[in-house]
Amino acid sequence: PARPDGAGPAPALPPGALTEGEAKRLLAAYGIPVTRERAAATVEEAIIAARAIGFPVVLKGVSRAVVHKSDLGLVRLKLRDEAALAAAFTEVAAALEAAAPGQAEGCVVQEMARGEAELFLGATHDPQFGPMVLAGAGGVLVEFLHDVRMAPAPLSAADARALIEGLRVAPVLRGLRGRPGSDVEAAAEALVRLSWLAADLGPRLVELDVNPLILRAAGQGAIVVDARATLT
Ligand code: ADP
Ligand code: MG
Repeated sequence: PARPDGAGPAPALPPGALTEGEAKRLLAAYGIPVTRERAAATVEEAIIAARAIGFPVVLKGVSRAVVHKSDLGLVRLKLRDEAALAAAFTEVAAALEAAAPGQAEGCVVQEMARGEAELFLGATHDPQFGPMVLAGAGGVLVEFLHDVRMAPAPLSAADARALIEGLRVAPVLRGLRGRPGSDVEAAAEALVRLSWLAADLGPRLVELDVNPLILRAAGQGAIVVDARATLT
């Protein structure tokens, strides 16, 4: 398959677990849309960041030692004004110190993305089969539905579409009973770009999870709101 424009090269990143922001930088270097976001060490910085990004915003506590942020009170969505953000900042900062003592890395303020559906995308390097990508039902559903499909990287656009269309969740993505369909084409493009990232990193890529990619209405694109990666 042909490499899409703007897919790579990868930025220099340290080995080990990356923060969400570092993982998103890697994705952005491959032309995959990610949330606008800014680090904030204090309430004042968080407010300045939110003014630049525009309310409503999302606030998250950052630590590369944490796997599931929301379980630990480290994700606050739909913060509509400065007062809500300031209150959330105090709570998230305390939750972060409790969850990752000595390994807290401050907070991040993100744009609040909206969409019709969520997908999980993944990439890994299999010792036998080489670079692989995965797609599945997103959000919390990923662990419960076992609705995941895998393919060797890099993928063509047709391969990526077929992989997503093969998911049990595909009819939901296309729009059920009058509900608007979501941008499956944008999700397929993100999967193609992720497949080039996996192909380029090769054995350096232990795993990379995008969970979720939020799909907007058809023609409106898709955006990564959470990502995790481990490199060697
Ligand atoms: P976790 O580490 O628990 O997976 P996430 O960053 O994925 O934390 O946040 C939990 C959920 O909150 C996501 O699955 C998504 O539904 C929602 N979410 C997170 N960030 C955003 C954002 N920037 N915009 C909109 N929704 C978000
Ligand atoms: Mg997540």
